[in-house]
Order: sequence, then C-alpha cells, then structure tokens
Amino acid sequence: MHYTPDVRKSILCLGFLLAASAANAEPPKAAASAIAAHIKFLADDAMEGRETGTRGYDVAAAYVAAKMMALGLEPAGAEGGWYQPIQFRSAQLAAEKSSFLIRMAGADAVKLEHRKDVILRPHFADAIADVNAPVVFAGFGISAPELQHDDYASLDVNGKIVLVISGAPKTFANDQRALYSAGEMKEQAAAKRGAVGVISVKSITDEQRMPFERTARQTNITAMRYLDRDGKPDGVDPRLRVGALLSRDGAAKLFARAPMTLDQVLDDAEKGVAHSFPLQAAISAHTETTYGETTSKNVAGLLRGSDPQRRDEYVLYTAHLDHLGAHGSGADRIYNGALDNGSGIASLLEIARMFASLEERPARSVLFVAVTGEEKGEQGSLYFAEYPTVPRSAIVADINMDMFQMHYPVADLVALGGEHTTLGDLATKAAAASGFTMSPDPQPEEVRFIRSDQYSFVKKGIPAIHLKAGPKSSDTSIDGEKVSREWLRTIYHTVRDDLAQTIDYASGARYAETNFRLGLEVANAPARPQWKENDFFGVMFGGR
Ligand SMILES: [Zn+2]
Repeated sequence: MHYTPDVRKSILCLGFLLAASAANAEPPKAAASAIAAHIKFLADDAMEGRETGTRGYDVAAAYVAAKMMALGLEPAGAEGGWYQPIQFRSAQLAAEKSSFLIRMAGADAVKLEHRKDVILRPHFADAIADVNAPVVFAGFGISAPELQHDDYASLDVNGKIVLVISGAPKTFANDQRALYSAGEMKEQAAAKRGAVGVISVKSITDEQRMPFERTARQTNITAMRYLDRDGKPDGVDPRLRVGALLSRDGAAKLFARAPMTLDQVLDDAEKGVAHSFPLQAAISAHTETTYGETTSKNVAGLLRGSDPQRRDEYVLYTAHLDHLGAHGSGADRIYNGALDNGSGIASLLEIARMFASLEERPARSVLFVAVTGEEKGEQGSLYFAEYPTVPRSAIVADINMDMFQMHYPVADLVALGGEHTTLGDLATKAAAASGFTMSPDPQPEEVRFIRSDQYSFVKKGIPAIHLKAGPKSSDTSIDGEKVSREWLRTIYHTVRDDLAQTIDYASGARYAETNFRLGLEVANAPARPQWKENDFFGVMFGGR
C-alpha cells in the first residue's frame, strides 16, 4: 500500500490525536473492594499465618502467582517459572543444653536464665559454640567517623566480647540512625576488630517501645538464613561465637565493678553521649543449636515494557508475602498478618492490574516480586537482590510496600528513603494526585528505613522508596499518631492483626494508586532515578 503525502499527513495526525487521548485518558483506579478481597484471602486462617517454609505460605504464593497469570504478566522467577525457590537453614536454640554465665574474679559465677535475663541466639555457623572471654562495654558499638562518632576509638576488643546498647544516637539524622542501628553493622564493626561475640542491652527508648519481656515471648519464632550458592548461611560471621540480648537486670550485673553504672550509661546514651570501657567481668557461653533445612520461594511476574531501548530496564515493586505463622497454645494461634503484610501484597496485585489495564504499555518493564522471609530478617529480598532474575544493573528502582497502616481515613504519607534519591519528589507528586500530603517520619526510633525489603536493594546501590501511612487523618476527630502507636504496642505482630480490626480499605486503594502513579512515572521517564549528589547512602552503596 502506498499513501499520497496528504493522506499520510492526516494519518500521522490521527495517530498523534490517539496518542494524545491515550495520554490524557483517566488513569486506572484502584478498587477498595479488590484491596479488601486480597487481604481477606491472605489473612484467612487457612493460610496459617504464612510463615516462611510452611504450607500456608505456599498456598498464599500460589494465589499470587495465579493472580499474576490471570492479569497476563509473564513469569519472571527461576527457569521461566513464577517462583524463585530459596533454600534456608533454620536454627532453633536447644535452651536446656545452652548456658550463659557471668564470671568475676573472686566471686561465684552467675548464671543468667534464658528468656528471663538473657535471650541467647541460636548459632548459625556451628551447632555447638563455646566462648569464654572478658567483656568490654562499647557504647552503641558504632564506628562512624564521618559522623564524628567512634565507640571503638580507644578500645581494644581483640579476643573479647563486646556489650553494646541497641540503636544509635538520636543526634544522627533519621536514616543514618537507622543504618547504624542495624545488628549486622554492629556485628561487622566488632568482628573486624577481633571481637569474639556481640551481646546487647536495649536502650531506654527501645525498652519502652518493645520491652525485653515481649521480645522474650517472641523467641519461639524460628530463625532462618538463606543458604548462598555455596551452601553457606548468609550474613553469618563464624568469628563471632556468641550473640545475646540481655535484660536490664542481667546487663547491670556486668557493671558491678565498672566506673559507671548501667543506668548512668543508658541515661547518657539517650542524650547521644556514649561511653566505652572494659568491664571487670567475663562471660562463658555455651550454645547448642538444632538445624533444619527448608525451602520457600519468592513469586515474580513481569509486565514487558514497550520501548525498544528501555524495555530491558526494570521498575521493581516488592512486598513481603510471609508473616509469623501459628504459635502458642491459645484459642487463636494464627498470626494472620492482615496489615503485615496482606496490605502490601494487595497493593502489589492491584498495581499489577492497573499496569495490565493500560492501553499503552510503559517504556520500561515492570517487575512485581512478592518476597518470602521478611519476618526472618528480609531474607527473600536479600536473596533476590543477590541473585536477581533480571540483570541487577538493569533494576532502576525498588518501590516497596509493607504494612500500610490504614486504621482510619489516611491523609498523609511518609516516604522512607525519599530524600536520598530523585524518587522522593516523584512520590510527592504521585501522592498529591491521590489526595495525600507528605509528612516527615514521626517515629524515627522505629528505624523503619532498614526494617523492610527496600533496604536490601539500597545496599546494592539501587534507589528505593517505601511509602508508609503518615500521622494525619482526614477525620480530624482522630489522632492518627496516637492510633498508630497504640496499634504498634497492642496489635502489631500479635494474633490480632486480623480482619476483626478496623481497616479503611478506601485509603488502601488510594495508597495503591499512589504507588502505581509513582512507578508509571519512573517507567516512562527518559532517565533512570538517581541518588542525590553526595547523598550519604548513595556514597556508601551507590558508588557515587
Ligand atoms: Zn512484620
């Protein structure tokens, strides 16, 4: 067929008009009923709390894969399937065979009782681990010269066990505070200096938000580490022979002959003032651990982009599918995890539906990954970040969704990680289009930036963002901040995070829309998202 120039011109014109009308078309809407339906299924008792490695989790994974398939996504797991299987080592402390003793010269050894004065961690590298070493108090256990803070500056910890206070100084900016609060950072800092163990005590702030007794009650939840391709448990440093959390009373015993009391150092730590000194005490720890091997899987689906150049780049959406399982002997044993994280998976599936319904596909491809093992320490996302099913360098951003607290009509959002990359401004625009304002994080002590799956990608230098519900409600009779704190204290990680609580699904729909708009913008933008110039995390992980 041959067109005369005039006809061609009018066809070009028509094409342009069609493209323009597609661009101006009403963007797809998220349905509150769909958010509710996904959560209803995922939080059903039949899922048995979706713990990593259980049948309940596998049923939930099959649900997600089936929904992705129905939407017309392509499978994007391992070997052309929907799943990315992961091998895990589970570790359970044999408490009756393990012991933790404090020794001081000239005095009888004092035994701390497991779950009463000490929570002894299972040892992932050795089924039987022994250590007998002096203890050094190392403040927060943080070496951050760039922030003028080094707890190890005048300390020799070679061959010793270090005792650290949880968290990081409040004087640090929120996300730096989060970074340095991480247990892995503290373990690395100690091991690098020759320490043979890291034990900790909660700061006053952390004790208030999660008392030691409550942490002790949760230790029946099986610990897991993924096995890397050499069969080694990830993130385990075999040089560290003991890991434990001490109660305030337990830790105070170590300070009996120290220049300051535990109360004094905890008070000072609240003000950001850290001390470090050797304690005139030693610890003998004996840990016996029973290992198991289990498999769980990430679920991955792909919407192929339309631009020949950019379709090999990927906007990644993540949300964790696992939760805590079924434990205890009460009438209700099931940790349904309706908000944690039925809400995030519901958003992920609704966002996938919105992308699939677009008349014109976005330029870049969009990858949706429901990850396992988050409650075991972001294991599924760490695995995906280490062994992605698409080239890692082609992942332009991670948009993570975890535990959207829709207890009331939500008026604002908090963008975890937003200030570090160009994603922050895009998120603010996307949120405004769905009627949300943006607020700063009102609870920096929760160190949320490192506490969900976006952080696994940040550590690989990938710009990442995680939008949370903010402290404001459009119903001005509601104090959102108070409701949120109360929920964290009484319902979070209990069997009551189920469908009996108040859930404002309309807010959940607007949340999904916001994340959809953000991802669409990133997928169509000419340039990839960038770390901000000289950004702390960009420099640390992004190679800037
Ligand atoms: Zn959780």
